[in-house]
Amino acid sequence: MECNIERNLKDCNCSYEPCSRKGKCCECVRYHRAMGELPACYFSDDVEKTFDRSIARFIKSRK
Ligand code: SF4
Repeated sequence: MECNIERNLKDCNCSYEPCSRKGKCCECVRYHRAMGELPACYFSDDVEKTFDRSIARFIKSRK
C-alpha cells in the first residue's frame, strides 16, 4: 500500500509549519494520541491555530 502524502496534504489544515509529520496521517494520529490529544484536522481553523489539541478543547469547541 502506498502512502498518500500529497493527497493528505490537500486536506491538512495544520498551521504548525515545522512539523515533519504533516501529510503522514498515521504518524500524526499516533503522536497526538500518545499525548492524549487529537490531530489538527479535528478542529476548526481558528481553534487549530491555538495549537491546543487537547480532547477537552475539542469537546468545548463542539458545544
Ligand atoms: S496535527 Fe500535530 S502531528 Fe499533525 S501535522 Fe500538525 S503539528 Fe504535526
